[in-house]
Amino acid sequence: MFPRWHIILGLAFTLVIFYFSPGISLLFLSLLFLSSFLIDFDHYVASGLKTGKWSLKSSFEYHRIKGIEEMKEIARGIKKKSDFHLFHTIEFHIIVGLLSFFWIGFFYIFIGMVFHSLLDILYMLNLGALHRREFLFFNWIRKR
Ligand SMILES: [Zn+2]
Repeated sequence: MFPRWHIILGLAFTLVIFYFSPGISLLFLSLLFLSSFLIDFDHYVASGLKTGKWSLKSSFEYHRIKGIEEMKEIARGIKKKSDFHLFHTIEFHIIVGLLSFFWIGFFYIFIGMVFHSLLDILYMLNLGALHRREFLFFNWIRKR
C-alpha cells in the first residue's frame, strides 16, 4: 500500500482513537500516528541496500518499478517473495508488544504497527499478493 494511504488512514485511525479516548496524551497519539506509517522505513532500507541509492526519490522509483514487475509476475502465476522487510515481521511486532510492559509508549507504537500491518494484509489479499511477504524473521534467516 502506498505511504500516502498509510498516512491518511493512520491519521483517521488516530482521530478515531482520540474521539473515543480523549484523555490520551498528545505524545502517545503522535506515536500511534507516526508508527502507523514509519514502519515502512524498512522498505526504504531495502531499496537502499539493493540499489546503493539512498534518496527518498530513488526509493519511491524503485518501489514503483518493483510494484509493476510484481503485478506482471502475479498475472503470470509466478509466486516469488518480495524484499525482506524487518519491521513487518511477526517477531518485530512481538518485541515492540513486549516492550510496552516497560514503557506504555511502546503499546501505542505497537497498535500503530498492527493497524499498518492489517492494512497491508488487506491490500495484498486484494491484489492476490499475500505470498510475497515474509512474515517470519526466522524463516527469512533459515532460507539465507
Ligand atoms: Zn507496510
